[in-house]
Parts: sequence; structure tokens; C-alpha cells
Amino acid sequence: MTSAAARRSRILGIVEVGITAVLGAVVAGAVWSLVDLAIPAAIVGGLNGAVAGGRRIYRWRSPVGWLAFVLDSTWVLVTTAGALFAHVVAAAQRTPGNYVVQYSERRNRHVYARGYTLRRGFMLTVGNVINGAGPHPRSTFRRHVVDDHEHVHVWQARWFGPIFPLVYATWWVIGATAGTLVWLVRRPPERLGRVIDSWGYYRNPFEWWAYSREGRWPPPGAVERFVWRRTLTSSRQREV
Ligand SMILES: [Zn+2]
Repeated sequence: MTSAAARRSRILGIVEVGITAVLGAVVAGAVWSLVDLAIPAAIVGGLNGAVAGGRRIYRWRSPVGWLAFVLDSTWVLVTTAGALFAHVVAAAQRTPGNYVVQYSERRNRHVYARGYTLRRGFMLTVGNVINGAGPHPRSTFRRHVVDDHEHVHVWQARWFGPIFPLVYATWWVIGATAGTLVWLVRRPPERLGRVIDSWGYYRNPFEWWAYSREGRWPPPGAVERFVWRRTLTSSRQREV
């Protein structure tokens, strides 16, 4: 890149941060003023806009990119606040190569190799942030999980807004309780943890949907007879 081109791209980068931050704050503040939460909403919307603008995640050339931005700044704002927390955790890790530009730029999401995860070996999507893509996120398998499983969660969160974390958490609590009862009553040969996971995690409709899309249903970690028999949706692989 010539120095003139580099300067031009730097200026465009600064312009994008500014416009996305201001627009995010205005859109979020305007919509949430309906419930008297204009200021906190404008702060979250503005910060999301600044981070996303700086990392150039939204694909402005496509209506899908605009839709992602508007939803993230309005209907999904609670999860977007959670996503900001994930950025803070990732920044504190100071891991070189933590942020995976190649999977994030103009893809309407952020991807971290580490970031905020709860379980070893499992990626965790919080709003528009995919965490835990792994130390070798460029491998074909991990890329497939990012694109065809975690990316499904990013859009589930966008479509379902506050309903998504609510259903997810409620399902986990009720499912884990059901799994524990099944284990206590039926005494299956499988470990208690696997039975709880099958009921509380794999049976969750949002996970059922994402694993089906990924083409891994039933998932290897689940006890097959304790999860849904059919896939919820066709897999991305089959469409190719
Ligand atoms: Zn999942």
C-alpha cells in the first residue's frame, strides 16, 4: 500500500468510527427514550458503534449489515451491553492475535481466539461477539463452527432480542433439573454431567437449531436418547 493509500484508509477508518459511534448512540437513545432509558442506551449504542466501527465489522454495502447494526443498537441492546463486557475481558487477556480480523471484518460480528468463555473447548457467543475460536482459529473445523454454529447464535440473539438470553437461561435451569431427576430415577450408565448437558444444553431449541445447521446432530457430547431425534433445520454443508 502506498503511503497516500495508507493515509486515506486511516482517515476512512477514523470517519467510520465517528459515524458509527454517533449513529449508534442516536438510534439507541431515540428508541430507548420510549421507556425513559435514553442515556444508558445511547452510551451502550455509542460504545458498540465505536468498537464495531474501529474494527469495521458491519458490512455497509449489504442491507444485512445495516439490519445487524440497527438491531444491535436497539432491540438487542441488552445483549450488546454483554458483548461490550466480553471486549473488556478480551482486552484484559493481552493475548497476541486474540482478535481474529479475518473472521470479523465486514462479517457483522467480532471473533476472538480466547475472549470470554465459560467452558473449556466450547465457544461462547455473547451478542455480536464470538469468543473462544481457539488457538488455531484458522483451521477448517473451527471456521466451520464459527460460521455455521456460532454465527447462528449471533443472529438468534438479533431476532429474539431479550427473549434469547431469557429462554436460554431458563431452559438451562429447568433442563438441568430435569436431567438430574432422570439420572437419579433411571440411573443410566452415563455420567450425571452428560445427562445434565443433554437436557439443559443440547436439548435447548437454540442449540438444537445451531448444531443442526452445523451438520452435527446429534452432537458427539450428547446422550442420543436424551435429545431430539430429528434435526431442527437442514445443515449448511448439505446445501453446498
Ligand atoms: Zn451453541
